[in-house]
Amino acid sequence: MQPSFDPSAAHFASRYLSAFAALPVAVQYGFAVVLGLVIGSFLTVVVHRLPVLLERAWRAEIEAVVPDAPKSGADTYPERFNLAVPRSACPHCKHVLRAWENIPVLSYLALRGRCSACGARVSPRYPLIELTTGALAALSLYAFGPSWPAVAAFGLCATLLAAALIDYDTRYLPDVLTLPLLWAGLIVNFSEGGFATLHDAVTGAIAGYLFLWCVYWLFKLVRGVEGMGYGDFKLLAAIGAWLGWAPLAQVVLIAAVAGAAFGIVATWMKRMRFEEPLPFGPFLAAGGAITLFVSTPLYALFG
Ligand SMILES: [Zn+2]
Repeated sequence: MQPSFDPSAAHFASRYLSAFAALPVAVQYGFAVVLGLVIGSFLTVVVHRLPVLLERAWRAEIEAVVPDAPKSGADTYPERFNLAVPRSACPHCKHVLRAWENIPVLSYLALRGRCSACGARVSPRYPLIELTTGALAALSLYAFGPSWPAVAAFGLCATLLAAALIDYDTRYLPDVLTLPLLWAGLIVNFSEGGFATLHDAVTGAIAGYLFLWCVYWLFKLVRGVEGMGYGDFKLLAAIGAWLGWAPLAQVVLIAAVAGAAFGIVATWMKRMRFEEPLPFGPFLAAGGAITLFVSTPLYALFG
């Protein structure tokens, strides 16, 4: 059988989309926010568990060579551990959350931010991630209307958010997020109606990687410091694959200014010394998301 693109699947999917577009606007936003909250709840799990899963995989590789390798934090988690198993539990008393205790934002409010079994405080980080994801879903709908670009834009934002939080926590941007994000960008721009032409998207992926790679080596050779990691190059390559090469200068500018501002405020507030390096990923992700929604007003500013 000759492999060919079956238009009936796309036709079927677009029928759902036109049915969604026919709904009242308030219902559309309600649906987007609820979907965003639910995906946000999943992102809290990804942000917490993905680094543990990756550490386990690396340890398995190390132990194949060094049988007596020292234990790590990943060993304190149960044997069977992935994004779905075991069910979420209180880190203090191991109380397994019941279904009604796991509803995004609402459960946090109903329980007043405490575990129902032991009363330990639950980090406000969980509802904040959920609310942010809900807001990003509404923003995607607002910016792109009830369309496939809106769905794709939300997928980009959700992945950027997860990558940013993991980088902030661990100073590491996982390949399992950045590389599929790059491919997804190229696929989204494969046909017309994406965020950039395929030519600009491929150029963006190359330019994003090469630009930060050059900055990295320049700093390393001139000043002997490593300001970034290879994960940052891959993340900017992914953003380039989504948005094309042209907006990348603005993405980097926003990231650099936001990173510097954050560093100054953090230094001032904690009175910490400036030596501690900041992860660059969260600021690149913010630059990418902002540019996705507002396009490139900075270019107009500079003529
Ligand atoms: Zn508890």
